[in-house]
Amino acid sequence: MSNTSDFALEDNDKCPDPLRPRPPQDSRGYFMLPQAPMESGYYTYGMLYHKPDKGAYQYAHPIMMTAILRVGLEWQAIDSRRFGVGNISLPGGRQNDDHKGHMNGLQVDIRPLRKDGLEVPVTWMDGQYDQAGTAKLIELFRTFAPVTRVFFNDLGIPFVLPLKGHDNHFHVELKG
Ligand SMILES: [Zn+2]
Repeated sequence: MSNTSDFALEDNDKCPDPLRPRPPQDSRGYFMLPQAPMESGYYTYGMLYHKPDKGAYQYAHPIMMTAILRVGLEWQAIDSRRFGVGNISLPGGRQNDDHKGHMNGLQVDIRPLRKDGLEVPVTWMDGQYDQAGTAKLIELFRTFAPVTRVFFNDLGIPFVLPLKGHDNHFHVELKG
């Protein structure tokens, strides 16, 4: 199959292979988050159809794109670890069975920081969890982006609201 026909099937649920080529810009004009460029402060993670999504779930509203890139720059100036950026939205903002919300490009999931800096999951109940680092990261989002809500179950962090399923990531919502 040529790349051209793969691109034509981008929003076709009948062709769900997340490893197929993805366009840099979707039907809304939203761009895919750059996939962990050097010195960006962040790395990317995410699965789609049980495979690494290669950015397929990382189409961001321009306000979200600006927020992540800005927070990444601020973060890498103060910390050598990178933070993990997960699901934002699918191309065209379509719904996906394994995720509520995340359709408008203004919501992002972020992994808590680990003390060992490894770029793998951690829950807020784990010994490797870095509460101070995670609190700082959330504070940067609130400083540099129009944050309306953050869902995360470590209620020792200011501003966050508890929500089922939010032990190994925090969910940030921005005002559009
Ligand atoms: Zn979320």
